[in-house]
Amino acid sequence: MSPSVPNHPVISSADVVRPTRVDVSLPRLRGNFRAIKKKVGSAAIMPVLKANAYGHGLVEVARLMESLGADYLGVAVLEEGILLRETGITMPILVLGGILGNQIPHFLEYDLSITASSVDKLLQINDAAAARKKKATVHLKFDTGMERIGVHYYNAEPMIKASGSCDHVIVEGVYSHFANSDESDLAHARLQLERFQRILETFTRLGIPQPPLQHIANSGAVLQMPESYCTMVRPGIILYGVYPSPHVTRTVAVKPALTWKSRVVYFKHITPGHPVGYGSTWETDHTVHAVTVPVGYGDGYFRTMSHKAEVIIGTTRYPVIGTISMDQIVVNLESGSAYNGDEVVLIGESGSERISCEELARWAGTIPYEILTNINTRVPRQYHE
Ligand SMILES: *Cc1c(COP(=O)(O)O)cnc(C)c1O
Repeated sequence: MSPSVPNHPVISSADVVRPTRVDVSLPRLRGNFRAIKKKVGSAAIMPVLKANAYGHGLVEVARLMESLGADYLGVAVLEEGILLRETGITMPILVLGGILGNQIPHFLEYDLSITASSVDKLLQINDAAAARKKKATVHLKFDTGMERIGVHYYNAEPMIKASGSCDHVIVEGVYSHFANSDESDLAHARLQLERFQRILETFTRLGIPQPPLQHIANSGAVLQMPESYCTMVRPGIILYGVYPSPHVTRTVAVKPALTWKSRVVYFKHITPGHPVGYGSTWETDHTVHAVTVPVGYGDGYFRTMSHKAEVIIGTTRYPVIGTISMDQIVVNLESGSAYNGDEVVLIGESGSERISCEELARWAGTIPYEILTNINTRVPRQYHE
């Protein structure tokens, strides 16, 4: 049985008829990659492409990164790696998430690098590779203060020793992950980095060569902690032109690569006594113009943004009224006008108005990461040169 791969847009960009769509700017992605490359100097770059490349389209972003000379790709789960292999991506790919033993044969079959997050997993990988007369490429994961997966920094020795005696494993990398590199207070991140550096020294002390790829820096650390670059960095969100938090120092200038738009499909007047939407939560005391737009929480336009969200039509911002439905929203134009087919900007700019994914995150009570990764795959992506 081969694992199924996630569904990706079934509508080809050539015949998009759906009014709601995501536009991805390839020049912006390219510019962001180059800005990061300039900042990190000689360190290798592993763009992180998990969750459909933060909503930008896994395969297309991978192809672009390959063409730009990225050194490695990072994904979260096995299926993302398999999908990339099946679409012809040949560069090295590391699956960053934890694994189960029964997944190991698939890693070997598709030549995907494996995260070994415990001695037990490492030995399982070695055995599975030996049984197939193969060598598994492995990155050892140490937990320096995130408490998610990885060998605790204070138990590093047995893992390092075990890695030195696994004949069917190539220990290509060693890594860890920051919990707080996007804060203005970097004390915890510095502590994590120190623990990571102790781990690297332990290899040397035990007479085991340090794995060549040593990595801990996510976007926050790329921006704020040049001392953490080691031999490779793993930027995610800044590649897409979004800063990981409002607190980070913006030492790399990046620009958002994604815009999200729809179109007006209905115009009407709303009169007093006629509330809008499920629960009848919004009602007018005077007649207003309104339009209906075919996007909703089923596309990833969070329902928790109800009574807060705004959109841009023409060059004017208008409020979304009533509760956000699965597939539709209603927008109050007050006395303004709009016609069927007019463009509605959900994330992006028009005239002097701009709506960022950070703003949607504030309305929804979440972080920009969650906004981007939740734009459903039913929204077709179009790529622009
Ligand atoms: C998601 C992730 C990254 C990238 O994080 P950003 O904050 O988006 O830069 C890097 N490394 C690991 C292990 C991750 O899970």
